[in-house]
Amino acid sequence: KKIIITIDGYSSCGKSTLARQLASRLDYVFIDSGAMYRAITLYFLEHKTDIKDEKAISDALDQIRLEFINNGTPGQSDIHLNGDNVEKAIRTLKVSNHVSDIAALEAVRHFAVSQQQAMGEKKGIVMDGRDIGTTVFPKAELKIFMTASIEVRTHRRYDELKAKYPDISLEEVKDNLLKRDLIDSTRKISPLRQAKDAITLDNSKLSMPQQLDIAAGWAEE
Ligand code: C5P
Repeated sequence: KKIIITIDGYSSCGKSTLARQLASRLDYVFIDSGAMYRAITLYFLEHKTDIKDEKAISDALDQIRLEFINNGTPGQSDIHLNGDNVEKAIRTLKVSNHVSDIAALEAVRHFAVSQQQAMGEKKGIVMDGRDIGTTVFPKAELKIFMTASIEVRTHRRYDELKAKYPDISLEEVKDNLLKRDLIDSTRKISPLRQAKDAITLDNSKLSMPQQLDIAAGWAEE
């Protein structure tokens, strides 16, 4: 029987990596909810919208069409913004630096959450994010809350960004993670919280195959 699996946690805990691998192991669909907030942010940066102008943002949301389109690997998709594949373009530092402010806006959350809930109508999905187990799918059958130490998270993210930004410093990476964590956990609407019925998975000392085996074990229970 297929279920809904939610994976929430702070930035750069490895949520998407686990979600992607778990979906592939279980033959489920993986959905990266953060990609939606990133694509929305990219839209407003490209349109030079004043991101402090909440009204301008909420009025423009109906101009934004987000789609997850299969990228050739079963169960995996790239996000498309108004018809363009933006899977790579949403991973820049500029987007990372603004996404949490945009994601804190009520209209933006409403826009994203209603689309996420529609994707869950077919079971057999793994969705990762910040509020998936608390707000998007409060009745999900398996909820995982991932944690890792800030040092581990900083190094992981640094290694990812280094290829694209050779001059980036550990300090800069850490600051961005902490800043996003703070905004995400203190915003008014569905802040980042561990759902009461979520299982904690601290992967500071786990390899990827180890964390996958643990999570797959829970999914098969
Ligand atoms: O998962 P990722 O780090 O790509 O998400 C980018 C940002 O999108 C997060 O820092 C957070 O501000 C926002 N987000 C959110 N709710 C989610 C997923 C992401 O607010 N469910």
